[in-house]
Amino acid sequence: MSMDDPIGPADIENGYLRCKKDAESGGYHVNPDADFARGLVGGLMVNLARYGYESCPCRLASGKKDEDLDIICPCDYRDQDVVEYGACYCALYVSQDVLDGKRELASIPERRPPRSLRSKNSVPVTSGPLQVTMPVWRCKVCGYLCARDGPPEMCPICKAKKERFERFL
Ligand code: SF4
Repeated sequence: MSMDDPIGPADIENGYLRCKKDAESGGYHVNPDADFARGLVGGLMVNLARYGYESCPCRLASGKKDEDLDIICPCDYRDQDVVEYGACYCALYVSQDVLDGKRELASIPERRPPRSLRSKNSVPVTSGPLQVTMPVWRCKVCGYLCARDGPPEMCPICKAKKERFERFL
């Protein structure tokens, strides 16, 4: 999709349904306010057309993919925010308690560190008692770990792409 292709209601509906399906297949939940969620999905589509990647619709992207990797949806901060606050920063994803109406949503503080404190490799590469014969890769979005020569094309848990993996061991 490019800025030349207008994003219509049918595109947004398809994107919303795909987002919901992906979320549910990975054990996540999209905000039950479908119109609100559609608005955010529309924002992701606009950012995809504008930058070439789906940067968070609630944050200002730099336009440089390398600098924005942590805020490509699903962002690196989603899981922690869903656990702690019941929703991601934009509230596109919510916890089971929010979905069940057992928890009210409140404002969610920005967890993303300022640019000067961001590092490309947030988890130090360490070695411990564990003997590994293969590199171990960690999904920076959900923490999924796998031992293989290179990172997978897509995280089987949260569907983040290959570029969101980092060398763990
Ligand atoms: S998961 Fe992160 S990037 Fe995606 S909508 Fe929520 S806060 Fe924004």
